[in-house]
Amino acid sequence: MGLPAPLATFYVVAAGMLGLIFGSFATAVAYRLPRAESISSGRSKCPNCGNTITAIQNIPLFSYVVLRGRCKHCGDRISIRYPLIELVTALLFMGAALRFELSAEAVIYAGFFWALVVLTVIDLEYKLLPNKVVFPTFIAGWAGLAIAALAGGNPGRLVGAAVGAAIFGGFFFLVASLYPAGMGGGDVKLAFVLGTFLGYVGGPGVVLVGMFLSFLIGGIVGVGVMVTSGGDRKMQVPFGPFLALGTVLGIFLGRPLLDAYLGTF
Ligand SMILES: [Zn+2]
Repeated sequence: MGLPAPLATFYVVAAGMLGLIFGSFATAVAYRLPRAESISSGRSKCPNCGNTITAIQNIPLFSYVVLRGRCKHCGDRISIRYPLIELVTALLFMGAALRFELSAEAVIYAGFFWALVVLTVIDLEYKLLPNKVVFPTFIAGWAGLAIAALAGGNPGRLVGAAVGAAIFGGFFFLVASLYPAGMGGGDVKLAFVLGTFLGYVGGPGVVLVGMFLSFLIGGIVGVGVMVTSGGDRKMQVPFGPFLALGTVLGIFLGRPLLDAYLGTF
């Protein structure tokens, strides 16, 4: 990193702290958005006893550890998913800080990762990817990346982003047209967003790595669920979380994976 070591350390740690806070916010958005509740107003409540969770009991990660995963009022278990979401978001923010150093891209990709966390939580629970999250991510992503690329003197990256969106989104659009039952409309729309962010960092090669990893991980888990549930068709696995995971891995590891793969020939 271009920064002196102490500053770089501070930068990454600060990104992690911010990630914890945004992870807590992601939980609130993922809970309230599908229920059409206001995101900005009202304090969080215990889902069991309905008691308001005060600010001191709502410090990301730390409160869960201090309260030993139980509500202070009723003693009911607090789901492990809350600290887990906060931890994952913190790691993603730290990853963005390390990968993109001190740049506009670091902020834009942290925001993108945050949207993926929200979409993953909603898709796991409701098996849907709301336009209310996908569309703003696409529009804000393109606006942010356009400014970052032009200000940074890298207009070529926008070509990569456009080509990426065309490959990832176009492929899903084609699959959904041929097999409408096989893929949801939300997956197709999300694919255009994912292709944009993959293409921006590494062009078509990295886009293909991200797509490949999505299908690979989704396929393995899908088969695993099918085997353990005895082929129950109702146990449908949402694809959104695997698209998100494959894309994140593609952004961080796409280039080295591609070099290693191509280097073997
Ligand atoms: Zn309670």
